[in-house]
Amino acid sequence: MTKISTNLIRIEEQIVAAKKQAHREEDNVHIIAVTKEVSVERTQEAIGAGLQHLGENRPEGLINKITAIDEPVHWHFIGSLQTRKVKQVINQIDYLHSLDRLSLAEEIEKRAIEPVKCFVQVNVSGEETKHGLNADEALSFIESLKDFTKIKVVGLMTMAPNTEDESVIRSVFKQLKQCQQQIADQGLAHAPCTELSMGMSNDFQIAVEEGATFVRVGTALVGNERGEQDEHEK
Ligand SMILES: *Cc1c(COP(=O)(O)O)cnc(C)c1O
Repeated sequence: MTKISTNLIRIEEQIVAAKKQAHREEDNVHIIAVTKEVSVERTQEAIGAGLQHLGENRPEGLINKITAIDEPVHWHFIGSLQTRKVKQVINQIDYLHSLDRLSLAEEIEKRAIEPVKCFVQVNVSGEETKHGLNADEALSFIESLKDFTKIKVVGLMTMAPNTEDESVIRSVFKQLKQCQQQIADQGLAHAPCTELSMGMSNDFQIAVEEGATFVRVGTALVGNERGEQDEHEK
């Protein structure tokens, strides 16, 4: 069995346990394998292990992988997207996790051939280094997308603050869940907003306990080839 398969089994078990803890046994939680730090070969290995959702955070990395890999998988763009790069990526992906401004929405509207499933990125923690709207701006931003025919708001995305304090991380995920529920309750045709993209290698279990439907896992799943190289040199 490959290393990725072993990691995947462990992560799936941890997700099952987190769902149980939160009485969410019936819910589907999708694992996005974040392959931004690994090679095409390693990405192919991840697909071989059964992963069907793959995430990249740079246009170059995404195009590189998509060009080399001809498999029926779902590609997620999880990084912040510069407006001028939209045309390069928008018709290659299934999901965009970083919709955070009107100018980006306008460029997508212009360039996309089919409607794009988008997560609106929310900066719940208010950290200045993070992209995303404030939680109290999210609803009005989403309402303003009503006439965009190429944007479907499937959910919200956030990144937890960089801290060891589990209660802070949990509180961020709880707030994103509340915000998502409030938007879903509006019943907007263009914004069903049923999904929550939150949780990475270090905090996906907490995210699942708080309602994540997509977790974005890189290091703990596919590794990070720089890190492994370092280990090799020791
Ligand atoms: C890199 C990245 C991840 C995965 O991070 P890991 O800690 O390696 O699991 C998830 N989400 C985003 C937006 C990322 O850039």
